[in-house]
Amino acid sequence: MTSRTGILLLVSGPSGSGKTTLCRRLADEDEAHYSISCTTRAPREGEIDGKDYHFLSKDDFKSRIDAGEFLEHAEVHGNYYGTLKSEVLDYLAKGTDVVMDIDVQGANQVRSCPDSQIKTAMIDLFVMPPSEEELRARLTGRGTDAEEVIALRMKNALEEMKHWPEYSYRLISATREEDYLNFKSLIIAERLRVSRLQ
Ligand code: 5GP
Repeated sequence: MTSRTGILLLVSGPSGSGKTTLCRRLADEDEAHYSISCTTRAPREGEIDGKDYHFLSKDDFKSRIDAGEFLEHAEVHGNYYGTLKSEVLDYLAKGTDVVMDIDVQGANQVRSCPDSQIKTAMIDLFVMPPSEEELRARLTGRGTDAEEVIALRMKNALEEMKHWPEYSYRLISATREEDYLNFKSLIIAERLRVSRLQ
Protein backbone atom coordinates (compact mmCIF):
# COMPACT_ATOMS: atom_id res chain seq x y z
CA MET A 1 0.00 0.00 0.00
CA THR A 2 1.12 3.54 -0.69
CA SER A 3 1.81 5.66 2.37
CA ARG A 4 2.15 9.40 2.48
CA THR A 5 3.78 12.13 4.53
CA GLY A 6 1.60 14.42 6.63
CA ILE A 7 -0.06 17.66 5.63
CA LEU A 8 0.85 20.82 7.51
CA LEU A 9 -2.28 22.94 7.50
CA LEU A 10 -1.65 26.56 8.53
CA VAL A 11 -4.76 28.41 9.55
CA SER A 12 -4.74 32.18 10.03
CA GLY A 13 -7.42 34.79 10.45
CA PRO A 14 -8.33 37.45 12.97
CA SER A 15 -9.50 36.57 16.49
CA GLY A 16 -13.23 36.04 16.16
CA SER A 17 -13.02 34.42 12.71
CA GLY A 18 -13.69 30.99 14.22
CA LYS A 19 -10.38 29.48 13.13
CA THR A 20 -9.46 28.03 16.52
CA THR A 21 -12.81 26.22 16.74
CA LEU A 22 -12.24 24.72 13.28
CA CYS A 23 -8.71 23.57 14.12
CA ARG A 24 -9.78 22.10 17.46
CA ARG A 25 -12.68 20.19 15.95
CA LEU A 26 -10.46 18.65 13.29
CA ALA A 27 -8.16 17.40 16.05
CA ASP A 28 -11.04 16.26 18.29
CA GLU A 29 -12.29 14.13 15.40
CA ASP A 30 -8.79 12.60 15.11
CA GLU A 31 -8.31 14.00 11.62
CA ALA A 32 -5.09 15.83 12.57
CA HIS A 33 -2.73 16.66 15.39
CA TYR A 34 -3.31 20.17 16.79
CA SER A 35 0.04 21.86 17.22
CA ILE A 36 0.00 23.29 20.75
CA SER A 37 1.73 26.65 20.63
CA CYS A 38 3.82 28.34 23.28
CA THR A 39 2.74 31.75 24.48
CA THR A 40 3.77 34.31 27.08
CA ARG A 41 0.20 35.64 27.45
CA ALA A 42 -1.72 34.80 30.62
CA PRO A 43 -4.19 31.90 30.39
CA ARG A 44 -7.84 32.87 29.86
CA GLU A 45 -10.42 31.41 32.19
CA GLY A 46 -10.80 27.71 31.50
CA GLU A 47 -7.60 27.38 29.45
CA ILE A 48 -5.36 24.50 30.43
CA ASP A 49 -1.57 24.51 30.26
CA GLY A 50 -0.36 21.85 27.83
CA LYS A 51 -3.76 21.56 26.15
CA ASP A 52 -4.66 25.04 24.92
CA TYR A 53 -1.12 26.41 25.00
CA HIS A 54 2.19 25.82 26.69
CA PHE A 55 2.12 28.94 28.91
CA LEU A 56 5.69 30.18 29.37
CA SER A 57 7.43 33.08 31.07
CA LYS A 58 9.23 35.54 28.77
CA ASP A 59 12.61 34.24 30.00
CA ASP A 60 11.69 30.64 29.29
CA PHE A 61 10.37 31.61 25.85
CA LYS A 62 13.59 33.46 25.02
CA SER A 63 15.83 30.59 26.09
CA ARG A 64 13.84 28.23 23.86
CA ILE A 65 14.39 30.64 20.94
CA ASP A 66 18.13 30.53 21.66
CA ALA A 67 18.05 26.74 21.85
CA GLY A 68 16.50 26.63 18.35
CA GLU A 69 13.34 24.86 19.56
CA PHE A 70 10.91 26.92 17.48
CA LEU A 71 9.81 26.37 13.90
CA GLU A 72 8.53 29.95 13.97
CA HIS A 73 7.73 32.60 16.54
CA ALA A 74 6.23 36.07 16.50
CA GLU A 75 5.02 38.87 18.73
CA VAL A 76 1.21 39.19 18.57
CA HIS A 77 -0.90 41.64 20.63
CA GLY A 78 2.17 42.38 22.80
CA ASN A 79 2.92 38.74 23.67
CA TYR A 80 5.18 36.09 22.17
CA TYR A 81 3.70 33.09 20.37
CA GLY A 82 5.60 30.25 18.77
CA THR A 83 5.40 26.74 17.33
CA LEU A 84 7.77 24.11 18.68
CA LYS A 85 9.45 21.89 16.08
CA SER A 86 8.54 18.95 18.32
CA GLU A 87 4.82 19.67 17.74
CA VAL A 88 5.24 19.33 13.97
CA LEU A 89 8.19 17.50 12.41
CA ASP A 90 7.90 13.97 13.80
CA TYR A 91 4.15 13.93 13.15
CA LEU A 92 4.62 14.86 9.49
CA ALA A 93 7.33 12.23 9.02
CA LYS A 94 4.98 9.57 10.41
CA GLY A 95 2.20 10.64 8.02
CA THR A 96 0.07 12.39 10.66
CA ASP A 97 -1.55 15.61 9.47
CA VAL A 98 -0.86 18.66 11.63
CA VAL A 99 -3.08 21.71 11.98
CA MET A 100 -1.65 25.01 13.21
CA ASP A 101 -3.47 28.12 14.41
CA ILE A 102 -0.98 30.82 13.53
CA ASP A 103 -0.85 34.58 12.88
CA VAL A 104 0.16 36.09 9.51
CA GLN A 105 3.79 36.73 10.56
CA GLY A 106 4.23 33.13 11.67
CA ALA A 107 2.62 31.84 8.48
CA ASN A 108 5.09 33.92 6.50
CA GLN A 109 8.01 32.38 8.36
CA VAL A 110 6.78 28.83 7.73
CA ARG A 111 6.16 29.65 4.04
CA SER A 112 9.74 30.83 3.61
CA CYS A 113 11.23 27.91 5.56
CA PRO A 114 13.79 26.15 3.32
CA ASP A 115 13.17 22.69 4.87
CA SER A 116 11.88 20.43 2.07
CA GLN A 117 9.73 18.41 4.50
CA ILE A 118 7.86 21.60 5.42
CA LYS A 119 7.59 22.76 1.81
CA THR A 120 6.02 19.50 0.68
CA ALA A 121 3.70 19.37 3.67
CA MET A 122 2.39 22.92 3.82
CA ILE A 123 -0.94 24.35 2.76
CA ASP A 124 -2.35 27.63 4.06
CA LEU A 125 -5.85 28.90 4.69
CA PHE A 126 -7.13 32.30 5.75
CA VAL A 127 -10.45 32.38 7.62
CA MET A 128 -12.41 35.64 7.50
CA PRO A 129 -15.46 36.81 9.38
CA PRO A 130 -18.44 37.59 7.09
CA SER A 131 -18.38 41.33 7.91
CA GLU A 132 -16.80 43.95 10.12
CA GLU A 133 -19.98 44.21 12.24
CA GLU A 134 -20.05 40.47 12.80
CA LEU A 135 -16.38 40.50 13.77
CA ARG A 136 -17.05 43.24 16.33
CA ALA A 137 -20.00 41.28 17.72
CA ARG A 138 -17.94 38.10 18.01
CA LEU A 139 -15.02 39.85 19.73
CA THR A 140 -17.34 41.54 22.22
CA GLY A 141 -19.49 38.45 22.73
CA ARG A 142 -16.64 36.27 23.93
CA GLY A 143 -16.87 38.18 27.23
CA THR A 144 -13.44 37.06 28.41
CA ASP A 145 -11.40 40.12 27.51
CA ALA A 146 -11.28 43.71 28.79
CA GLU A 147 -12.57 46.67 26.70
CA GLU A 148 -9.11 47.87 25.65
CA VAL A 149 -8.06 44.32 24.74
CA ILE A 150 -11.10 44.08 22.42
CA ALA A 151 -10.28 47.47 20.84
CA LEU A 152 -6.70 46.36 20.19
CA ARG A 153 -7.86 43.05 18.72
CA MET A 154 -10.34 44.85 16.42
CA LYS A 155 -7.60 47.15 15.15
CA ASN A 156 -5.22 44.22 14.66
CA ALA A 157 -7.96 42.15 13.00
CA LEU A 158 -8.57 44.78 10.34
CA GLU A 159 -4.84 45.02 9.73
CA GLU A 160 -4.43 41.22 9.65
CA MET A 161 -7.29 40.83 7.18
CA LYS A 162 -5.35 42.70 4.51
CA HIS A 163 -3.09 39.64 4.24
CA TRP A 164 -5.59 37.12 2.88
CA PRO A 165 -4.24 37.32 -0.73
CA GLU A 166 -0.95 35.78 0.50
CA TYR A 167 -2.76 32.48 1.23
CA SER A 168 -3.64 29.65 -1.16
CA TYR A 169 -7.14 29.19 0.29
CA ARG A 170 -9.67 31.54 1.85
CA LEU A 171 -12.81 30.71 3.77
CA ILE A 172 -15.44 33.35 4.53
CA SER A 173 -17.10 32.20 7.70
CA ALA A 174 -20.83 31.40 7.56
CA THR A 175 -22.37 28.91 10.00
CA ARG A 176 -20.21 26.62 12.13
CA GLU A 177 -21.38 23.54 10.26
CA GLU A 178 -20.84 25.00 6.78
CA ASP A 179 -17.41 26.26 7.79
CA TYR A 180 -16.40 22.87 9.14
CA LEU A 181 -17.64 21.08 6.04
CA ASN A 182 -15.54 23.34 3.80
CA PHE A 183 -12.57 23.07 6.12
CA LYS A 184 -12.67 19.28 6.26
CA SER A 185 -13.14 19.06 2.48
CA LEU A 186 -9.88 20.93 2.07
CA ILE A 187 -7.86 18.41 4.06
CA ILE A 188 -9.66 15.47 2.44
CA ALA A 189 -8.75 16.76 -1.02
CA GLU A 190 -5.15 17.44 0.01
CA ARG A 191 -4.76 13.82 1.11
CA LEU A 192 -5.00 12.84 -2.57
CA ARG A 193 -2.06 15.00 -3.62
CA VAL A 194 0.53 12.94 -5.49
CA SER A 195 3.60 14.86 -4.26
CA ARG A 196 3.10 13.53 -0.70
CA LEU A 197 2.72 9.88 -1.70
CA GLN A 198 5.69 7.62 -0.99
P1 5GP B 1 -5.01 34.11 21.23
O1 5GP B 1 -4.24 34.89 22.25
O2 5GP B 1 -6.33 34.77 20.91
O3 5GP B 1 -5.15 32.66 21.57
O4 5GP B 1 -4.18 34.16 19.86
C1 5GP B 1 -3.78 35.38 19.33
C2 5GP B 1 -3.15 35.19 17.97
O5 5GP B 1 -1.94 34.43 18.06
C3 5GP B 1 -4.02 34.44 16.96
O6 5GP B 1 -4.00 35.15 15.73
C4 5GP B 1 -3.35 33.11 16.80
O7 5GP B 1 -3.52 32.58 15.50
C5 5GP B 1 -1.90 33.50 17.02
N1 5GP B 1 -1.09 32.34 17.40
C6 5GP B 1 -1.42 31.30 18.20
N2 5GP B 1 -0.42 30.42 18.28
C7 5GP B 1 0.57 30.91 17.49
C8 5GP B 1 1.88 30.43 17.16
O8 5GP B 1 2.35 29.39 17.60
N3 5GP B 1 2.62 31.22 16.34
C9 5GP B 1 2.16 32.40 15.83
N4 5GP B 1 2.96 33.06 15.00
N5 5GP B 1 0.93 32.86 16.11
C10 5GP B 1 0.15 32.14 16.94
